[in-house]
Amino acid sequence: MIPTAPNRLCLNGAALVANWRLLAAMSGAAACGAAVKADGYGLGAREVVRRLTAAGCRDFFVATWAEAEALDDLGVSVAVLHGVRAEDMAAALRTRHARPVLNTAAQVARWRQGSGGPCDVMVDTGMNRLGVSAEEARDGLLDGLAIDTLMSHLACADEDSEMNERQRAALVGVADRVISRRVSLANSAGIALGAPYHFDLTRPGLALYGGVPRGELDGVRPVVLPQAQVLQRRRVAAGEVVGYNATWRAPEDTAVAIVNLGYADGYARAFSNAGMARVEDRTLPVIGRVSMDLIALDVSAAPDLGEGDWVTFDYALPQAAELSGRSQYELLTGLGSRFDRVWTD
Ligand SMILES: *Cc1c(COP(=O)(O)O)cnc(C)c1O
Repeated sequence: MIPTAPNRLCLNGAALVANWRLLAAMSGAAACGAAVKADGYGLGAREVVRRLTAAGCRDFFVATWAEAEALDDLGVSVAVLHGVRAEDMAAALRTRHARPVLNTAAQVARWRQGSGGPCDVMVDTGMNRLGVSAEEARDGLLDGLAIDTLMSHLACADEDSEMNERQRAALVGVADRVISRRVSLANSAGIALGAPYHFDLTRPGLALYGGVPRGELDGVRPVVLPQAQVLQRRRVAAGEVVGYNATWRAPEDTAVAIVNLGYADGYARAFSNAGMARVEDRTLPVIGRVSMDLIALDVSAAPDLGEGDWVTFDYALPQAAELSGRSQYELLTGLGSRFDRVWTD
């Protein structure tokens, strides 16, 4: 048997479902889907899909066909946001529950020729990332396609930007001329922009997993808690240093714990001399540089903490992003494969 890992992510299934229900309620009459690309933003896509399907979610979004194939046996509807390359056609025809989100004229032609089955279409309305142009859509590029969802993506939904309304109006202009079963625009932050942005289907990702991209979403609950085990406890004498480049010097004799977590696990090096762990109600500051696989904590507040004990790291995403200068998205998707992922409900 493989031993349990010396670090783990405690994943709160009840909070995940509560966040989806909150976003579904805020989406009003629109259906609420879930973006589960990048392995469910680092949590594990299969477990996320199982839990959200049980809660009533019916539409899932991934980036690639490898991600779609890994979910196909779950029997849920998956849209592949990056569309379909020539290299993807075999997988696209093989999967039973996934369809592409067509992004370019070449992808549209490839899908017409190779399948002709249901698809989604992304229209670029000003972000200049993926999508066919509004002009192409109006000029008949999409005529005759079996479009399930016609969608666009907001560039600035986490800000009060006039670009939001411009993109919304551009999508309405295309939807007036293109036949589709549904129209979709809003990501997590877009849901908070209100009913005109909801159309038929919303596509939250970040906020499902505890991210708070706008103040209106402050009811979102944290889902992910990193925990790590103490490998060694030591006494560092006044004047001695800890870690690479000796960036922390003991002002007095200090109890220090070395724990099994590092930037290779996704715990950002930017938490050096800034992050915080806890055991019960005691706070244990990160001291010195975060190493690849190790971190030092000042454990003066926890005299009984020793080898083999577990500590829990502060990882509330808005605050952790502020502290580290990393985006909430990076803080989630960087969480590595060495963690055990332990779900509680
Ligand atoms: C990632 C993504 C989403 C989800 O965005 P969040 O900001 O994480 O809610 C929705 N739509 C598209 C096209 C995406 O790429």
